[in-house]
Amino acid sequence: MSTTENTAAPGRALNIRKISGVRAEPGAGLLSEDEGEHGHSHEHSHDHPHGHSHGLQHFHTHRNIIGFDEHGIPTVILKAGHEDDPEKSDQDFIKDYSKAITEYRKTFPSRQDVIDQTPDPAVRDMILRAEQIGFDTCFDRFDRQKPQCAYGLSGVCCKVCNMGPCRITPKASRGVCGADADLIVARNLLRSGAAGAAQHGMHAREVILNLKWAAEGKLDLPVIGANKVRSVAAAFGIPVENRAAEEIASDLADALLEDLSRTLPDQEYRTIAALAPEERRKVWEQLDIIPISAYHEVFEAYHKSGCGIDGDWRSVMQQFLRCGLAFCFSGVAGASIATDCLFGVGDRVTSMVNLGALKKGYVNIAVHGHLPLLVSEIVKCGQSEAMQQLAREKGALGIRFYGICCSGLAAMYRYAGVIPLSNAVSAELVLGTGALDLWVADVQDVYPAIMDVARCFRTAVVTTSESARLPGAERFEFDHRHSNIAETKKLAERIVRRAVESFESRRGIPVYIPPYEVEAEIGFSVEYVCRRFGSFGPVLEALKDGRILGIVNMVGCNNPKVVYERCIIDVADVLLANNVLILSNGCASFPLMKLGYCAKSGIAKAGPRLREFLEPDLPPVWHVGECIDNTRSSGILGGIAGAAGRCIHEMPYGFASPEWSNEKGINAALAFRLMGVNSYHCVEAPIYGSRNVIEFLKEGTRETLKSVMHVDTDPKKLGLRIVQDMIAKRRALGWPAPEAVLPGEPGSAETAAENG
Ligand code: SF4
Repeated sequence: MSTTENTAAPGRALNIRKISGVRAEPGAGLLSEDEGEHGHSHEHSHDHPHGHSHGLQHFHTHRNIIGFDEHGIPTVILKAGHEDDPEKSDQDFIKDYSKAITEYRKTFPSRQDVIDQTPDPAVRDMILRAEQIGFDTCFDRFDRQKPQCAYGLSGVCCKVCNMGPCRITPKASRGVCGADADLIVARNLLRSGAAGAAQHGMHAREVILNLKWAAEGKLDLPVIGANKVRSVAAAFGIPVENRAAEEIASDLADALLEDLSRTLPDQEYRTIAALAPEERRKVWEQLDIIPISAYHEVFEAYHKSGCGIDGDWRSVMQQFLRCGLAFCFSGVAGASIATDCLFGVGDRVTSMVNLGALKKGYVNIAVHGHLPLLVSEIVKCGQSEAMQQLAREKGALGIRFYGICCSGLAAMYRYAGVIPLSNAVSAELVLGTGALDLWVADVQDVYPAIMDVARCFRTAVVTTSESARLPGAERFEFDHRHSNIAETKKLAERIVRRAVESFESRRGIPVYIPPYEVEAEIGFSVEYVCRRFGSFGPVLEALKDGRILGIVNMVGCNNPKVVYERCIIDVADVLLANNVLILSNGCASFPLMKLGYCAKSGIAKAGPRLREFLEPDLPPVWHVGECIDNTRSSGILGGIAGAAGRCIHEMPYGFASPEWSNEKGINAALAFRLMGVNSYHCVEAPIYGSRNVIEFLKEGTRETLKSVMHVDTDPKKLGLRIVQDMIAKRRALGWPAPEAVLPGEPGSAETAAENG
């Protein structure tokens, strides 16, 4: 048996060729070699879908199946069918992608480009203030990192073992151990995917443990989401009749923890059995990618990607898919279920958003990160009359709370009065206002750079998790074994008192608050949609008759490789002009909130058909919450597909994370592709060095998962591509579809922000 042959168990055979999708019929669509790499004719024809226009200047070798668009983005162009001299072919490909990386790097904006083009005027003001005061932002640091390392961008740098680091170059097609470009790129990608699964998985572990301890009385907290506990437990097959919600919640928490951490390989992944559509379960079974548990798959990912272990890029990518499912069902769904069970689903609420909502004269506390337990207690404590009185005695007008990243979003619709200010990338701009007395940082997307700005304005920073400390911050944390979990309320009170102290000691610190604030509606959920419409039926009817052309879940963090928050807004403009309804959460939702897309008045940004559906009081972007609330989005998408009696992959849906940057972002897109939803992005993953991995990620799962990944650095073109793909799906369903797509109306966003 060759090393590339399937060694999976009989009956659950992995069809590697199908997963990889590499190599089609011999000779298909090939031009002769002397037609060259550049300036060649594009009069060839081939009928498979691809994302480049033949009118664009792009360069690729026709010996390969991978080309690059004019901005250097890898694109699957031709199905190659014959074997050239592999060494020569590899050399040519290295030349090609090196040129492509040069083109791609040219698209990276400078800090000045951000100032000129970012859509939120508050961000612009604060970058200029940072310059005046003399503190760095991530945009300055990004400029200083240029030109970014081509080996890093291509994914062909390996430092797995100490014989390296090795990198693939024209003179070295293999690392010291013999790993080739496919294996190195695949291993690097897998390790990123495993890290993303670990990050969301640790978030899930915290809230599932919190649910368990609250249910069992170790933590003095009520289980607020009793209805959620009962409905999810019933889906898991946990008895619910004549049992207290706490008792059921304890069993549910155990089931979620078991999926997170089991080692026995022959047991069911209960979250998948309970929540995944049957059609998807069959697909995943066929591919043999259903995880044993999240811990196991992350463990195995690091095992098999080590030096001298798995030498087959295909099985490395198979593990990548397993990590994607573990991320999706234990990391995201597990965390979301536990959060909703413990803290309640919350409801749609209206909030003010953006820096203008910061008020001088108050004890101002920012909560930054992802974990809800301590944040909920801090907010409760800070809103108590005793603490408000304490603040007034010290000369403040009261205590106010602000949210950064997901903490703000989750807290906003569960505890009134937590005002979302910014996503992770501009956290340091928020600190730069000088208005914050205390900054509570827990885990994930808390950049170490915030400490420099905090020091500059004497803002006290406290960290609350042993997983995530910051040099210079004060530690008010749960210990490694959570032995102090019963002292949560005391910890929260100490943090609020520390904020009041900080207020007293910071008198005279200069404050500048850009005058931009708008309203946003937040807290959409499966429960809200069903209550509002009675069922998913009316939303399905609107989708079928074309009032809603399609639905996009637009999420993801931000990335200075594109103009900050611009791509999100530009893609949204195209989608809304074409009557596409948008769901959003997490970092990407901040520009949409700040620029009026989540307000009732945002209906003006929607096309006329979508407006018919949204009248009288729905915004065109439905804000579902924090990043783990992708579960709410997939619940809404799945619910509508279920009402239609269709599989999710047949529906006119899309997933867009235009500006993604972190490891969780890789998995979020993968999770939706695993569900059969195409993913769309304006930034590229570090995969240039491997034709096989590029092909696998972008087109190779079209047949198996019924979904693909598409990247275009131009957000308008990306938006048009999403709409075109939705129109194709509508036609396949026999639903009415427009003849033409509309370009969208840019420019309204800035006006909305400025008018508040
Ligand atoms: Fe080099 Fe192989 Fe070690 Fe990677 S694992 S650093 S390619 S020797």
